[in-house]
Amino acid sequence: MKWDKSEKMFHRAQERIPGGVNSPVRAFGAVGRHPFFVERAQGAWLYDVDGNRYLDYVCSWGPGILGHAHPRVVEAVQKVCARGLTFGAPTAGEVELAELINICVPDVEMVRLVSSGTEAVMSAVRVARGYTGREKIIKFAGNYHGHSDGLLVKAGSGLMTQSVPDSAGVPAGYAASTLTAVYNDIESVGALLEENHGQVAAIVVEPVAANMGVVPPKKGFLEDLRRITKEQGVLLIFDEVITGFRLALGGASQYTGVHADLYTFGKIVGGGMPLAAYGGSRDIMSCVSPLGKVYQAGTLSGNPAAVTAGIETLKILMEDTGIYERIDARAKRLAEAFQSIGLTVNRAGSLLCAFFTQDSGERAGSVENYEDACRCDKEAFAGYFNRMLEQGIYVAPSQFEAMFVSDAHADDLIEMTCETIAASVLTNNRQEP
Ligand SMILES: *Cc1c(COP(=O)(O)O)cnc(C)c1O
Repeated sequence: MKWDKSEKMFHRAQERIPGGVNSPVRAFGAVGRHPFFVERAQGAWLYDVDGNRYLDYVCSWGPGILGHAHPRVVEAVQKVCARGLTFGAPTAGEVELAELINICVPDVEMVRLVSSGTEAVMSAVRVARGYTGREKIIKFAGNYHGHSDGLLVKAGSGLMTQSVPDSAGVPAGYAASTLTAVYNDIESVGALLEENHGQVAAIVVEPVAANMGVVPPKKGFLEDLRRITKEQGVLLIFDEVITGFRLALGGASQYTGVHADLYTFGKIVGGGMPLAAYGGSRDIMSCVSPLGKVYQAGTLSGNPAAVTAGIETLKILMEDTGIYERIDARAKRLAEAFQSIGLTVNRAGSLLCAFFTQDSGERAGSVENYEDACRCDKEAFAGYFNRMLEQGIYVAPSQFEAMFVSDAHADDLIEMTCETIAASVLTNNRQEP
């Protein structure tokens, strides 16, 4: 494969855009190479400016559950665009999308549309604070909730210490009100709640974590979170920006049977356009301005083009009752291919991740939290990524991202991928513990 045009473009990009990209992971830094520039995409395939074709398991980091450029979605958006791109006044489409979200996730009695997952989670946290009158929140190490100041916080070193900012430019004060617990470890949550009794507004969690690779909740973890939050008047926020409409039509609450107080959606709900949402019960959402005292607004919120892409995508998912079974079965097939060559695989529905674990002993192979994920062999991962790319298969350029399967990944493409996986990892020569 040649990447001459992409190389030239990347050179140009770096002159005017920090790192040449508009979101850091796109720079391919973790896999020791430069990014390709995309020209177009169709179905399961991406085409770059050099004419290379890739079978795409990134799916724009989640939105592409139907594959790229689904004709129904594209046509609906084209039609609505001709009538004007934004009005800053209500449209019928916003009502329809809110109703569709409620049908899929009945807990979401009222919903606000925003433009990014970052905005959705930031706003949901504000609502939780406004509703409870408390200031602190708990998040989990390795869960990602967008780049707002209060959520770009990580655990400090050592046990039970203060959180610290996870980015330059985040005031230390934010870290003081965002506490960090360990995923799949309810005792770490209990300890924080005890230490901060009566001060915690909300616990925000990825119900199936998909930003440290894929880490499903252990049996009982979400149930325990639900119980402990109810007991202490703490709101439970499911950040379903990835899992919403992905694990099931009803997202993680349907998939796991555990229900939250507030939900955030993004990625799929916008059908590939900049749209996200947060919502919950009528009682809680009545806090939001102009009904209540929690302020949140957006010039382009609920704009007709993005809303239409969301409506059409959800409608297709609702009409096609077999889709989740199909994509889950395909992801399962991929998981088996990774397992058959000795990799650790975590999978939930159509989200999966092969981990290049390198532990020995009791914990060997299992990835249950961020610390486990961090112990993976990132060099081995980079080798695997590059070999897959050379074979025309694009997986996420980082050990900490999920592999996404779409409905456009037909069975023959899955089989082809399985063969490539076997070949590409076998040549890896990685050291067995
Ligand atoms: C992607 C993501 C976000 C942030 O969404 P953006 O649209 O990128 O701002 C928040 N939460 C989770 C779980 C995500 O995966």
